[in-house]
Amino acid sequence: MFLSKRVQAVQPSPTLAIDAKAKALKAQGVDVISFGAGEPDFNTPQNIKDAGIDAINKNFTRYCPVAGTLDLKKAIVNKLKRDNGLEYIPEEIIVSCGAKHSLYNLFQAILDDGDEIIIPAPYWVSYPDMAILAGAKPVIIPADDKNGFKITAQSVQKVITAKTKAIVINSPSNPTGATYSSGELKAIAEVCVKNKILMISDEIYEKLVYDNFKFSSTASVLPEAKNYTVVINGVSKAYAMTGWRIGYAAGPREIITAMAKIQSQSTSNPTSISMKASVEALNGPQDEVEKMRAEFEKRRDYIHERLNKIEGISCSKPSGAFYVFPDISKLLGKTFGAKVINTDSEFAQYLLETAKIAVVPGSAFGADGYMRLSYATSLELIKEGMDRLEKTVKQMI
Ligand code: PLP
Repeated sequence: MFLSKRVQAVQPSPTLAIDAKAKALKAQGVDVISFGAGEPDFNTPQNIKDAGIDAINKNFTRYCPVAGTLDLKKAIVNKLKRDNGLEYIPEEIIVSCGAKHSLYNLFQAILDDGDEIIIPAPYWVSYPDMAILAGAKPVIIPADDKNGFKITAQSVQKVITAKTKAIVINSPSNPTGATYSSGELKAIAEVCVKNKILMISDEIYEKLVYDNFKFSSTASVLPEAKNYTVVINGVSKAYAMTGWRIGYAAGPREIITAMAKIQSQSTSNPTSISMKASVEALNGPQDEVEKMRAEFEKRRDYIHERLNKIEGISCSKPSGAFYVFPDISKLLGKTFGAKVINTDSEFAQYLLETAKIAVVPGSAFGADGYMRLSYATSLELIKEGMDRLEKTVKQMI
């Protein structure tokens, strides 16, 4: 009775829901293997934890500047220069409670009722709902598995209207693991700059790339691109810091200032202790990042190979993030046990109930007939999970 139309128009995050269900089953003693998690299974590196503990002991526990401490903003400025060749000043940076929060602030800061925002599918679940919460209309461009789940400059050009305000680019992608080369980004950026469209470049999986892929930030692919890009990044995925809740945005000062205004009226500053730990993450030694990346690459190779050996499943090889996104459409319409499975959601439900493995259905990401598996779990569990999946699929008629 009291709920707004706005909140009724959005869905709770389905990925968090699957993960919660798997965790609840585990808590009841059920031996569930979860491929649902969107977070590294590694612990935060010790030097980063120590910086957090030190912050507490030094009583760095009070309110801070709304858009983040100057030392963290400077560490982000350095990171963007070192890793991406980008020049920003601290006033062009905002630190938020996770990249998700930066994105939320950004959508609120730039979107008006009726504005259109282009979102390639398969998409990270939160983009369309955040757009709807801001009153805007998500315009979805489907990206084909055959094209490596990537959209092209031409497909962007086709959907642009007078109402188009922004586009979301997420490379490496959640859920597909697709990565865009600098040339591919450049072609898209040319269309966006020409049409004065803001590029929201979610680069949270930047550090998790494989096969020697060279990551490029969207803001760096054209000289004019920086003025039309807001870079979104954070420490969650690269440094195994999901619970610390630190993300950031870098972009044109006017937009960053507007985001800070929204943040000042909602959360205020991100956690002081987490900001100190994040300074250490960005400025400290980076070898733990490489160790985690190398381990993810091994797991990717293994899970990709196993999935393709299962009849009825075919899986493209992702080049980034920690997800695989296999096509399961050939399994739909088949009978499993006494049950006909018609949709990816029913398949995911069936896998959880019978094989005790948790996956997220592709439809949650705007791609029916697929499922997302996160390999941010040990090789041993991945092996056991693949054995269970293989056995279940073999029983279909
Ligand atoms: N963007 C993408 C594509 C993600 O997958 C996630 C987390 O799952 C985020 C942003 C948010 O990350 P965080 O809020 O932990 O920084």
